[in-house]
Amino acid sequence: MILKPVVIPKEKKGDFYQSKYDHFKNLTLWVVTVSCIVEMTFFVSDCSAVLGFSKETFLPRFAVLIPLILYLIAFRYVSSYKLMTPFSYIMVHACMLSVIWVGHNIRNITNLRESFLLMTLMLLVVGISAPRRMHVFFHVLMIGEFVLAYFYAGLTGIDTFISLDGAALVSVCAFEYIFENAYAEQYNTQKKLEDISLHDQLTGAFNRTKLKMLCMEDTEELVFKNAGFILLDINDFKKINENFGHDTGDRIIKELYKGITICTRLDDVCIRMGGEQFLILVPNQGLARTKEIGERIRGYVAKATDFPCTFKVSVGVAIYKGGDYHVTINLADKALRFAKENDVDMVVAYEDM
Ligand code: GH3
Ligand code: MG
Repeated sequence: MILKPVVIPKEKKGDFYQSKYDHFKNLTLWVVTVSCIVEMTFFVSDCSAVLGFSKETFLPRFAVLIPLILYLIAFRYVSSYKLMTPFSYIMVHACMLSVIWVGHNIRNITNLRESFLLMTLMLLVVGISAPRRMHVFFHVLMIGEFVLAYFYAGLTGIDTFISLDGAALVSVCAFEYIFENAYAEQYNTQKKLEDISLHDQLTGAFNRTKLKMLCMEDTEELVFKNAGFILLDINDFKKINENFGHDTGDRIIKELYKGITICTRLDDVCIRMGGEQFLILVPNQGLARTKEIGERIRGYVAKATDFPCTFKVSVGVAIYKGGDYHVTINLADKALRFAKENDVDMVVAYEDM
């Protein structure tokens, strides 16, 4: 079961890897930071070995501080997995190059091979937050480091490398494959739950929870800036239910939502407020354009022939001017009530009242 690949749709791959990175990034940060610090503390044992200040190893041991500082700054300001996961891997290799540099300077380094094994463990942890294809690539780089260590730092024992590090590299890659599969399974379940919690189950439109989220998130500015609010309600819907039955009422609500999606753009957000009432948020459009979209929906419903029965909608429009978004919904509702009290089948903007 764990070997069976869990499919993530192509268009969701980016979101999947970002979610994996976000989930494990703190673990990666700790492993990278601690490994760099441990690498630097080895300077103490270098000094005790030479019974004094080990000037040959000072620079190589502490050189790792520069990429570490850059990494910590990047971690603070960059959130994209596309940049941060390669950077985490580069940090592992920076530690490894530092060890090779030490090996080159003092030549009698005894723990070079063990360092390779330790770095493999670091790769294992860093790989948890990264796409697995990156893992293979950055592992192959380690073979390059082995060659470097062989020619540059006096590392011996290719047979040991192949039997120990080679096996470790393959095992870690296998682990990363299984781990990513397990995370993909969890990701898919989480997305399904998210989908259920943010959508109305009858129509597939967003629900009020999504509306609340849009207002809480940073995207608030983006969605609501100059946004037009269109509140739309079927007239005499109770009578449709009474005359044609509840199932027909449900079908009408579903068809109306389809009609709304036909008449709006991808950027517009349609929320089922409850019953036969929908709210459409039209970002970055002025009053005229918002009224135009409201009119388009009203006209579409009035002319439609494929609905189970004919019906009309009233539309209220208001423009968001900042502050509490509930206020704008109330203004659109006032315009909607005005439409119902007057002609019923019409679009009214609060600003025109
Ligand atoms: P108005 O013209 O003033 O809007 O009157 P109305 O009859 O359209 O609205 P009212 O609020 O009086 O009644 C709405 C009805 O919609 C009452 C409720 O039973 C029904 N309803 C609410 N949710 C659903 C649903 O999901 N499916 C169906 N079929 N009916 C629903
Ligand atoms: Mg109604």
